[in-house]
Amino acid sequence: MADCLFCGIAAGEIPADVVYRDDSVLAFRDIDPKAPVHILIIPRKHVAGVMDLEDEDGAIMGQAMTVARRVAADSGVSESGFRIVVNTGQDAAQSVQHIHLHLLGGRALSWPPG
Ligand code: AMP
Repeated sequence: MADCLFCGIAAGEIPADVVYRDDSVLAFRDIDPKAPVHILIIPRKHVAGVMDLEDEDGAIMGQAMTVARRVAADSGVSESGFRIVVNTGQDAAQSVQHIHLHLLGGRALSWPPG
């Protein structure tokens, strides 16, 4: 989608520190990490957010979760633990309107989130 930052990253038009890619999903390091491990996992398909998901998107989001498992293992946090977050809408401070999983780990994470 034109003017979408993460579509630009998925297309290779905008640089990113990519740690995993396949035909449907991309994972790259967050530019402003909130934890020692902070990786974003996105579907290549443009979906603005959770409320824009269609039934047919279930498979690709399942693939994104499977990639999160792989990236967590590759990042060394599978034993220590990690958090997967999907900020959705204004109250969650979603800032990029292309659905993404945050994978956060490498330190103790407080709960509940702020
Ligand atoms: P959210 O606030 O949940 O929409 O998360 C968007 C995330 O994208 C934030 O954690 C940003 O730091 C991150 N971000 C913004 N621009 C870039 C970029 N060019 N490359 C990597 N991560 C980015």
